[in-house]
Amino acid sequence: MSQAVKPIRGINDILPDETAAWQWLEDTARDVLQSYGYEEIRLPLMERTELFARSIGEVTDIVEKEMYTFDDRNGDSLSLRPEATASCVRAGITHGLFHNQQQRLWYAGPMFRYERPQKGRYRQFHQMGAEAFGFAGPDIDAELILVSARLWKRLGLKGLELELNSLGSSESRSRYRDLLVTYFNDRYQDLDEDSRRRLLQNPLRILDSKNPEMADLVAQAPVLTEHLDDESADHFAALCAMLDASGIAYKLNPRLVRGLDYYNRTVFEWVTDQLGAQSAVCSGGRYDGLVEQLGGRPTPAIGWALGVERLVELVRGASLAPDPAGPTAYIVPLGEAAESRAQALAESLRDQLPGLRLRVHCGGGGMRARMKRADRSGALCALIIGDDELASSTVVLKHLRSQQDQETVALKDLQPRLARICSDTGAA
Ligand code: ATP
Ligand code: MG
Repeated sequence: MSQAVKPIRGINDILPDETAAWQWLEDTARDVLQSYGYEEIRLPLMERTELFARSIGEVTDIVEKEMYTFDDRNGDSLSLRPEATASCVRAGITHGLFHNQQQRLWYAGPMFRYERPQKGRYRQFHQMGAEAFGFAGPDIDAELILVSARLWKRLGLKGLELELNSLGSSESRSRYRDLLVTYFNDRYQDLDEDSRRRLLQNPLRILDSKNPEMADLVAQAPVLTEHLDDESADHFAALCAMLDASGIAYKLNPRLVRGLDYYNRTVFEWVTDQLGAQSAVCSGGRYDGLVEQLGGRPTPAIGWALGVERLVELVRGASLAPDPAGPTAYIVPLGEAAESRAQALAESLRDQLPGLRLRVHCGGGGMRARMKRADRSGALCALIIGDDELASSTVVLKHLRSQQDQETVALKDLQPRLARICSDTGAA
């Protein structure tokens, strides 16, 4: 035997026993997003590297050390997308979606970041995201938060907390940045190496430091929300009032700065205490300057992205996801004549009962082996067809998940009989 090819670290397969939870989560999210009038946009998995450098920011963990970047055969630098907001903005500019228009969009798919793999943190992971373009006021901020809150409700997730902050305008942020630089410069001796580097390049990111030894220093630092420009302060107050009116609880977190450069004003994160260190399940914020920064006309924008792996972990942990649905019936043909008829019978049943999950035994074997496969398939019943049944146009219906007696069912009655089994068990 030759040696098996190893998978890539941090890049996972999602096996059939997990995909039911994934599909349920994705279907529910799509449903919720569509119920607010959001439309799907499908974006490419790679872009020019420049797009991410110009949007996420040169001095961010993502662009500095987490991107999968390579030259294509033509020598152009391309990167696998580490997130999709930049692509969404790029696509909107490319196709003129923003000019004098409002857009409510959503996307789903894999993202790629070269991070240290651990539970809840992978190198290929999946996000679903919502983005709204062309809305400047706080009403859309509230709506986007409501969309996410409704999704948690639909999934039955409890215990998620909303953390909220405002980063202000770029002007007030740069005034605040000066204050912060002075504050940290005065305490330069106490800064760790990472923070010293950030002090020069991107001092706000010091507030994002995960080093516990930096915690006190960060806690004493000037607070951003106390230095907001008036308009941003009004915007934030209006958002908070709307959330209050909708009964959405939140916690103000003045240290929440988010790891990407493009945010302004509202930023938020939904966090849980059930996933250890990987506590953020959904995060987002306003990025009013990004469209212009990437070559479009000024367009206010805001969005969020949720981490599908972390949410799947939560819904599976709380047994919220439905069990994977096995087949309704498993057809067991016995003998050559029955085998040659089995697929045709299955086809006509599928024609008559859309939604029926039917598996036909393939691959031969004795009667016992066939029945064992029928049982292992998880099917509710086996439909057994031998020479006698062929001759009398019947099948033997054997219940596999209950003690009911087996039945002989005429072929003409089979469709309503299966329909009844489906509706009794909620199978289709
Ligand atoms: P974190 O602080 O956990 O690194 P982040 O701020 O980098 O998260 P975003 O870029 O805002 O995360 O992405 C949105 C969501 O995607 C996160 O809230 C998280 O649920 C998920 N996510 C981010 N990075 C990963 C990863 N490497 N593996 C799995 N999920 C991830
Ligand atoms: Mg990160």
